[in-house]
Amino acid sequence: MKNVMKMNVDFLNGIGPARAKKLQKIDICSVEDLLLSVPKYYLDRRRITRISEILAGSDVNVKGGVISTEFRPSRSGKRIFHVALDDGSGILDLVFFHSKYIRQRVYGGVELIASGSVQFWGGGLTMTHPDLAFPDKNGLFNFRSVIPVYTLTAGITQGVMRKIRQSALDAASGEITGIFESEVLKKYNWDSREEILRTVHFPESPEEGERARRMLALEEMYLYQLLLLKIRQNAKLFKGVDLSGGFEKVRVFVSSLPWELTQAQKRAIDSLREDLSGKSAMRRLLQGDVGSGKTVVAAAGCVIAASADFQSAVAAPTEVLAVQHSITFDKLLKPLGIRCEVITGGTGAAKRREITEKLGNGGIDVIIGTHALFEEYIEIPHLGYVVIDEQHKFGVEQREKLVSQRSPRPHMLVMSATPIPRTLAMTLYGDLDISVLDELPPGRGSIVTQVMGKEMKKKVYDILHERLKQGERAYIVYPLRESSENQDLRDAVSSFEIIRDSSLGKFGIGLLTGDMKSSEKLSVSSKFASGEISVLVCTTVVEVGLDVPEATVMIIAHAGKFGLSQLHQMRGRIGRSSRNSWCFLMADSELSSEAQERLDVLSQTLDGFRIAEKDLEMRGPGEVAGTRQHGTPVFRVASLVSDMVLLAEARGIALEYDLSKGLPEECRFRFGEIDVPGV
Ligand code: ADP
Ligand code: MG
Repeated sequence: MKNVMKMNVDFLNGIGPARAKKLQKIDICSVEDLLLSVPKYYLDRRRITRISEILAGSDVNVKGGVISTEFRPSRSGKRIFHVALDDGSGILDLVFFHSKYIRQRVYGGVELIASGSVQFWGGGLTMTHPDLAFPDKNGLFNFRSVIPVYTLTAGITQGVMRKIRQSALDAASGEITGIFESEVLKKYNWDSREEILRTVHFPESPEEGERARRMLALEEMYLYQLLLLKIRQNAKLFKGVDLSGGFEKVRVFVSSLPWELTQAQKRAIDSLREDLSGKSAMRRLLQGDVGSGKTVVAAAGCVIAASADFQSAVAAPTEVLAVQHSITFDKLLKPLGIRCEVITGGTGAAKRREITEKLGNGGIDVIIGTHALFEEYIEIPHLGYVVIDEQHKFGVEQREKLVSQRSPRPHMLVMSATPIPRTLAMTLYGDLDISVLDELPPGRGSIVTQVMGKEMKKKVYDILHERLKQGERAYIVYPLRESSENQDLRDAVSSFEIIRDSSLGKFGIGLLTGDMKSSEKLSVSSKFASGEISVLVCTTVVEVGLDVPEATVMIIAHAGKFGLSQLHQMRGRIGRSSRNSWCFLMADSELSSEAQERLDVLSQTLDGFRIAEKDLEMRGPGEVAGTRQHGTPVFRVASLVSDMVLLAEARGIALEYDLSKGLPEECRFRFGEIDVPGV
């Protein structure tokens, strides 16, 4: 039997090849696509407004009689059809630019209802291209009172959009297979999927339409959750490397640390231990705000692996970070006799050879590196544990590549400093177990964040001077490395030169930008870490990872140009010790209201999760999670912003599903072939 829902729309009444092509432009190919492309909103014709009571800018329905029609030229000379509609309280001007069909039905004496938005235009109230309804032969207005309004594509009108939805519903009637079990439908007060689809397009009221839309959003999230559960279930089938032999050593490691672990860190390490026993390969996301101390948790895993005679790999997105990690890991692990090495794109051929050899003969316990780690020639024969830092900078395939070819599988810890709200994390990473470091190490100084106008620049630099005199360090961040002539922005390079030649020059000024040679980057960042340089003038390369506890001042130029989460990440570079810190957001005078709002949020809170939620509200999820390029699911009906509340429900329903009978076909139709091993 043919599945009507999956058939191309071109067989439907009202759709020929030309229209089918136009629809394709807005991603409508099958009947189902058409039906899942739900109205943007509904026009409600149930309430009639008196013409005398209309406010400009409002959407209204007006019922009256036509008193006259005429053509008047527009300013550009076009013939425009004007209709004067009288309802006894006043007269409204209806305007049509294309009047071929309208003229045949609209003339003096005709009764009609016009729906649309009213503007103040040409000296009076005007409704342009209204939707019209006419009485039947008995003089009754027998029309649909709630009208769906769709996203259009060139050459197809709202009227056609409605008609083809109707033909799609008629054609598919009786052949729409359910997605939810009938008990679930019943619980939400629906009889069938067909009823939901019918209601979303042609509801009795806008509220009913919205109720149907939410049900379709729930359906979509449910299908995605099923997919994630399946990925996760399959992953559990892979036996993991047994690292339980290394558990004892963690206690030694923890007591060797110069500080007490936070409760959150303890919980995360406990989960690691449970995961690493080898029943199945770990797939865990460690989420924690900047400065929450993720590194030491990751390192605890390396201790376990090394003590069980397995090797670890730690991947970082940039060379600077990889090198910094190698220094940190060395400091943490060397006392326990664990040997670390670092490999990056900049590692010379001789050193590479040495590293590959040592990896082969067990001379390295922990290999830290950039993308270079994923190169073919790198072989890590006893790999037991993999850490991916800033995981959104790596593709899913990359992270899977390290582990999927092996049996038993190495364990994997992925880390993210982008605090995503828990619900969103469940959507994007529902295939992973999640640990959250929701607590910062104690004894941190405060961070004062202030939005500063141009006139405050001197004050800011006075404070900077004062802090540098106290032996502290500072970042000055610019949105651009070099600005072109027509941009009225100060850039990193020219500012570096100015500051170097100013009275601040004596404190040591360095420049760090993304396009510098990696050896230069490393040299500058290590000078900054050691204090040889006290001021780092830079671009957003500092966004991830740098850990220099002496840094207490951050000045962000043209702060309005940065995104909220990005600003938060940058600010995470200061406030890393017991000293107090200052973050100055330099605002240009012509700050947009949205930029103003971002800076206000940032100055009001240090809580990364709150900031992420706000960012999500303002920009949408792909941007926030930094996963836009890496597989944020594309939902057609559900909005990850406004439908978030449905997520937990969707997951709950998905958990009731018996995965052993396989995923519903629909999962593949919605989300494509998912390229994750074992699915
Ligand atoms: P992030 O989560 O941003 O990667 P890091 O792991 O770089 O954070 O830790 C931030 C700083 O806090 C580091 O300098 C680290 O040494 C320190 N740190 C980590 N855990 C603790 C703790 N429990 N008590 C005190 N300082 C800690
Ligand atoms: Mg980190």
